[in-house]
Amino acid sequence: MEIRLFKPCVGEEELANIREVFDRSWLGLGPLVTKFEQEWNRYIGATSSIGVNSGTAALHLALTAYNFPPGSKVLVTALTFVSTATAILYNHLEPVFVDVDPHTLSMSLEDLQKKLTKDCVAVMAVHFGGHPVAMEELMKIAKENNLVVIEDCAHCAGGAYKGKKLGTWGDIGCFSFEEKKGMTTGDGGMISSHNSELIEPLRANRWIGIDKDTWKRVADYTATGAIDSRHWYYEVAVLGYKYNMNDLMAAIGLAQLQKLDWMNQQRRRIIQRYLQGIQDCQQIQPLYPYELEDSAYWIFGVRCHERDRLIVSLKQKGIATGVHYMPLPLHPLFHKYPSEIPVAKEVWETIITLPLFPELKDEEIDYVVAALCEFDRQ
Ligand SMILES: *Cc1c(COP(=O)(O)O)cnc(C)c1O
Repeated sequence: MEIRLFKPCVGEEELANIREVFDRSWLGLGPLVTKFEQEWNRYIGATSSIGVNSGTAALHLALTAYNFPPGSKVLVTALTFVSTATAILYNHLEPVFVDVDPHTLSMSLEDLQKKLTKDCVAVMAVHFGGHPVAMEELMKIAKENNLVVIEDCAHCAGGAYKGKKLGTWGDIGCFSFEEKKGMTTGDGGMISSHNSELIEPLRANRWIGIDKDTWKRVADYTATGAIDSRHWYYEVAVLGYKYNMNDLMAAIGLAQLQKLDWMNQQRRRIIQRYLQGIQDCQQIQPLYPYELEDSAYWIFGVRCHERDRLIVSLKQKGIATGVHYMPLPLHPLFHKYPSEIPVAKEVWETIITLPLFPELKDEEIDYVVAALCEFDRQ
């Protein structure tokens, strides 16, 4: 058997939407991006959403919204994908790495308070693997210390915490629709907020700084028939980036959004089966305490002190694995930001990500479970 680690769940619905885009022959930033943004708002309960071409772009622009003075400090968990921290560097700010909680592997709020100084202006909260950060506690700390909270929801599209969707607890929520993530547009991302005034200006930043979308200017011109509407006129007032989502991506996203609850439901069911399968293991333990209700877990993982040997053993049986992640301060790029992160440094050597995607079959799960149990008994 050969089992992949992640697999996007795409088919006829996405193809039908793509065909419509082809029939219209408008593939770039257009009306479908707006439609997807509106449906995303409705789905997660935000008032403003802006579609971009990656989760990385979303994180970059989310911090740009605040125009923080260069050199200001931003708190970020040590255990995350590199983009959460490069967003800080893109904005000429300085990352302060926070250690993880030994159980949940999310940012430790205790360590956060230790590392907090008056130079800190924001905190990047990553719901690691889909496990929610204790948002009511974090928001309390943020309020007391005047910190902006940006939620990195790359792992938890559609997930909720205490009945409220992740990405709507903090000031801005950032999502990734990269092909391996919980839902996909190929590549893509979304910036969402309940503060429209804060993020609406970012529409220009995602479109090379141009203050009017081309498709709207063309629509005005063709709809009104006003020969002298100066449809060609636009101004650039801010430094922007070519970060827009396009209609082809939005077409896929609209179909994926219809399936998102179902896909998260399937992942919950699969995790449940994995957890039951490994419950008697001694050396192999679940990555963290999965709380499946309302959840949108993207990672099913385990901890094992013989992690590297387990990876090889699974590979020999055709089972793909991954490691999410080596702590960021261990990367050369971040060596100049010294940090004490003993828990992350110890734990990451033991973590391993196992196959999880909505169409993973029961016999495939059982095959992985059998391989884990066999390794555990050795
Ligand atoms: C994937 C990921 C991103 C970046 O998303 P892209 O769409 O790949 O740019 C950011 N943060 C985390 C935690 C991620 O896993």
